[in-house]
Amino acid sequence: MTILSNLIKPGSTIGIIGGGQLGRMMAFSAKERGYRIAVLDPTPDCPTAQVADWHIEAAYDDLDALKELAERSDVLTYEFENVDAETIDRVQNEVNIAIPQGTDLLLITQNRLSEKDFLKKAGIPIASYAKIETKADLIDAISTLGYPCVLKTIRGGYDGKGQSVLKSDSDIAEAVSLLGNGICVLEEWVSFKKELSIMVARNESGQVVTMPVSENIHYDNILLKSIVPARVSDETLNEARLIAETIAEKMALVGVLGVELFFTESGEIYANELAPRPHNSGHYSIEACSDSQFDLHIRAICGYPLPEVELLKPAVMVNILGEHFEKALELNSSQPKWHVHDYGKNGVKVGRKMGHVTILTDAIEETLRTIDETKIWN
Ligand code: AMP
Repeated sequence: MTILSNLIKPGSTIGIIGGGQLGRMMAFSAKERGYRIAVLDPTPDCPTAQVADWHIEAAYDDLDALKELAERSDVLTYEFENVDAETIDRVQNEVNIAIPQGTDLLLITQNRLSEKDFLKKAGIPIASYAKIETKADLIDAISTLGYPCVLKTIRGGYDGKGQSVLKSDSDIAEAVSLLGNGICVLEEWVSFKKELSIMVARNESGQVVTMPVSENIHYDNILLKSIVPARVSDETLNEARLIAETIAEKMALVGVLGVELFFTESGEIYANELAPRPHNSGHYSIEACSDSQFDLHIRAICGYPLPEVELLKPAVMVNILGEHFEKALELNSSQPKWHVHDYGKNGVKVGRKMGHVTILTDAIEETLRTIDETKIWN
């Protein structure tokens, strides 16, 4: 990992690999502080390019394009985990550029199995799992983990893609087809009461800061709503914080990381997944916190001290997918106090994240009812 001997000061250029909404919101935070933004993304007019100073239109693993991005930038960051770690290492060796997040974090989180092995070794509670390469492995693991259980590809899965839930022997044949995509991991089923997440930031000096815990509601495996603070006991909130801090320290994190958690009926917490970057469930922090997840990320990668984050007001965040988009934009007129974010994406598609709405509220239940009454998300 490159050691930042100098601060990356305002006026410098931050190069972002990936031009989606996370890069765009990082750029907003960086711009507020006086930085310039260069972005690498293959899509013309992508969300980050619309607010960046330079856009290099090329694939994420295009070595020459990455080198050009590095040459134009003073520091590089990535907004998603599916960038090629080897190519990033080569860029770092060939161009003298700070990449404070490093690639260890990528290598662990790109692979569900190495992520689980890391969490287990770090002493973080997780659901029991087994590595599956063949049908025989699967049958063997089912005899230990029992039904229900879930088979997941170790690479490239997100929002529930590349997963197969097994409830009985009759589901084995379908699950086995996932093995065609490579090695998988079988997980015991966690009958969770709630899904939670927490964002944690760390800088190179080892300062660790956590953000308030979100309670997340998914629909069709895609995040629909986040409620902050999560409606769980203080003890659970503290436990979540401790888990996030331990992960950040053991990973020598630099930047921001999202930790997805299951909270069970019996009050236990299990880590489910890590995201080595800002996370959808942390978007509420833009309006609801003294510093957003994007502010922390920019401060951390530029080598600045991290502030303790205060929740200024409870919040509900609702995602705007393609199917909600048209009606959700009308909220700009009907709900002037709601913060409607539009990521500027070209092409509205069902299931595509087009924006989100954050509502600051002292009456969470009433706000949830008002959201239902809009009938946008039914
Ligand atoms: P993931 O891609 O691992 O975050 O999984 C997507 C969603 O599937 C999660 O948000 C959960 O709702 C559900 N899920 C995944 N793994 C499990 C599990 N082991 N037990 C129960 N639900 C799960």
